[in-house]
Amino acid sequence: MKYFIHTYGCQMNVHDSEKIAGIMEGLGYESCSSAHNADAVIFNTCCIRETAEQKIYGHIGELKKVKRAKPNMIVAVCGCMSQQTGVADKIKESYPFVDIVLGTSNLNLLREAVLSAQNKKRSFNVDFRQYNEEDFAQSRTSFPNAWVNINYGCNNFCTYCIVPYVRGRERSRRTSDIMAEVKSLLAQGYKEITLLGQNVNSYGHDLPYGESFASLLKEIGELDGKFRLRFMTSHPKDLSDEVIDAVAAYPNICNNIHLPVQSGSTEILRRMNRRYTRDDYLSLVQRIRAKLPDVGITTDIMVGFPGETEKDFEDTLDLVKQARYSSAFCFIYSRRKGTPAYSMDNQIPYAVKRDRITRLLACQNEVTKEISRNMLGKRYEVLVEGANTHYADTMCGRTESGRLVNFKCDDSYIGKFVIVEIEQAKSATLWGSIVKERQ
Ligand code: SF4
Repeated sequence: MKYFIHTYGCQMNVHDSEKIAGIMEGLGYESCSSAHNADAVIFNTCCIRETAEQKIYGHIGELKKVKRAKPNMIVAVCGCMSQQTGVADKIKESYPFVDIVLGTSNLNLLREAVLSAQNKKRSFNVDFRQYNEEDFAQSRTSFPNAWVNINYGCNNFCTYCIVPYVRGRERSRRTSDIMAEVKSLLAQGYKEITLLGQNVNSYGHDLPYGESFASLLKEIGELDGKFRLRFMTSHPKDLSDEVIDAVAAYPNICNNIHLPVQSGSTEILRRMNRRYTRDDYLSLVQRIRAKLPDVGITTDIMVGFPGETEKDFEDTLDLVKQARYSSAFCFIYSRRKGTPAYSMDNQIPYAVKRDRITRLLACQNEVTKEISRNMLGKRYEVLVEGANTHYADTMCGRTESGRLVNFKCDDSYIGKFVIVEIEQAKSATLWGSIVKERQ
């Protein structure tokens, strides 16, 4: 029997899909590359934007005919969208060919739900409860990189964001469980571990022995062997000097911090409930750069939040120039039902948002180009991650600061550290040649 997972959204979901794959493989299913060939189709959904949600309903609907032709096919809907109020009931009534709906905290129930569905019994469960990662195997697809969840949920309630409503309150995994997973991954030959959480900096506040994100970083940093450690995402209000010191102290921890700013205007940040000002953010960037001179800082920026004036937007452009991000995920604010910003006054017309995103992207491109040009002729350690399928005999990997580099070599290099000299810098994309193999 074959399974197909349709994954939407962020890294968190990509990693959840590895857990879903592990469960399906434990039941004897093999992965396949198309829903039409599958005996079980699992939608791992996202609800960050309303348009994404409509698209997912469309994709689920497309399976109606397929299921008619293959009545034993199992259809499951998991992830953030299914956790929203009313969605499970809507699917139950309007999509009778869907067998399983599970919320973000119910993945551990998938095995039983699939077995029930094989006997034509539908399962719907969207209760918040904490499952243990330790309860089931994962089928990882990203060698030499591996993701490790350290905490779930979010307590921040940014006014535009649906995540706290669908992922629940913050819950930290026990340090001993995380350490066991990291050690096992390193023993299996993984070379890069990325710690995942909606806000990694608040890790440990709900644990009993004073655990913190900095103490976790130090414990992993102490492990022997050549590997890299990354983490995401960091809420700027919670990134402590102790965390910056840990990144500086341990060579295994990458000089790479994803630090979503969202806006360069203090007034807009206040309306977003981000709980830092423009000056707080810029002084944090300065503290990071003072201790980590080669750091690559990346960010998320939103334009067109309700009430954003031209002056607010210009403050964002100015902040981008000062912060000097190596890259930025820039996007247009889209109204999300169920969040406070949905009903705020002064929603910004689409044409204005479009104009601002174009100007923001141009501004960030200039910064990225300049950083890239400064890398020309220099040598960087790169972990070879996989093929760049657009070019023959070309592999790609990232520098410690997170920049993607392409170079010629064969796939026997995947999982090795090499030294690459940068020869071409095309804005975000770097090209180079391997000058030395490290390991
Ligand atoms: S920190 Fe804000 S943007 Fe990030 S998940 Fe929590 S509420 Fe959403």
